[in-house]
Amino acid sequence: MERAFQTAMWLLRPEMVFILGDIFDEGKWSSQKHWEDDVRRFHRMFRHSTDTELVVLVGNHDIGFHYEMDWFKLQRFEKVFNASSTRIVTKKGVNFLLVNSVALHGDGCPICQSVEKELIKISRELNCSLQVRRRKKRPMLTVMFSLCILQHYPLYRVSDAGCTGQDAAPPEERNLLFRERYDVLSKEASQRLLQWFRPRLILSGHTHSGCEVLHDNKYPEVSVPSFSWRNRNNPSLILVRETTDTTSQIHGGEVTDAAVALQMKYQQNLASAVC
Ligand SMILES: [Zn+2]
Repeated sequence: MERAFQTAMWLLRPEMVFILGDIFDEGKWSSQKHWEDDVRRFHRMFRHSTDTELVVLVGNHDIGFHYEMDWFKLQRFEKVFNASSTRIVTKKGVNFLLVNSVALHGDGCPICQSVEKELIKISRELNCSLQVRRRKKRPMLTVMFSLCILQHYPLYRVSDAGCTGQDAAPPEERNLLFRERYDVLSKEASQRLLQWFRPRLILSGHTHSGCEVLHDNKYPEVSVPSFSWRNRNNPSLILVRETTDTTSQIHGGEVTDAAVALQMKYQQNLASAVC
């Protein structure tokens, strides 16, 4: 995995790398010593030049599924990556909304409340910017219309049956039904995200296979296949290229906006993985 990552960095020279969660395998139960060992190993394997910005999202293997998540594990993760797990990252006018999707369970748990509160605040700020620009008749290309949501869990879909793309699940797995709040977000949480942010693109991980799907006939989502040999025999990443045409849209699975997105699964203990 280290060689694959370093080769990708050398060949593609991305400005940004997004790792869409499940950085570690045992983050949900590792002792402090094992956690620190894994963090050191991660930084060594995923070293990169200062020209590349590495942004990491949280997944269920980092802090546990919702029922296993607690403040200690979440803050331990956020401290390592020096940032809140729900926030906006802006690059060249594109807003990347990073979401702690493990906390979108909708049961009112303290962490869920905190994440929802932050999302509502961001949504209000973005809508406010949009209205101000409308009033002042300023270009709005860099506000809502270029928002991209990045999160570990995919938005709700029944199964992978409707997925397209060369890395989609094999035929024998495509009709397996997904469980809400485990394989994918709940219907309610998915609709809330779409209504609040009307994203131009959603990038997600977790399911190991790739999927290109269109929600409500207008919101494209790409589930990025796993980067780990443990999860598939053709570990994958996706490359997203910047275009000077800021009005461009996504057609037929071709993504045309800023930065590079990679999903990687850094999992040492093969026997203990759940998802
Ligand atoms: Zn996962």
